Amino acid sequence: MSKLFTFLILGLVCYLLYKKVNSGNASPRSRQTRQRSNDPERIIACAHCGVHLPESEGVHAGGRFFCSDEHRRLGA
Ligand SMILES: [Zn+2]
Repeated sequence: MSKLFTFLILGLVCYLLYKKVNSGNASPRSRQTRQRSNDPERIIACAHCGVHLPESEGVHAGGRFFCSDEHRRLGA
């Protein structure tokens, strides 16, 4: 009887481990896709040199977008 009980526990542990591994693989992937869809950074071209870069890394001036402060001073 004790042997049967041990096999039952072993089976349960294996099942729980299998479940844990499966859910552990799935959750980071869904988190990544959620992060990507929530943070869509716009890529804009510099009005002076035409280089494309994320909006947060450039400068807005007079309704135009520039890649750097220097190009903002030089203008389009
Ligand atoms: Zn530029």
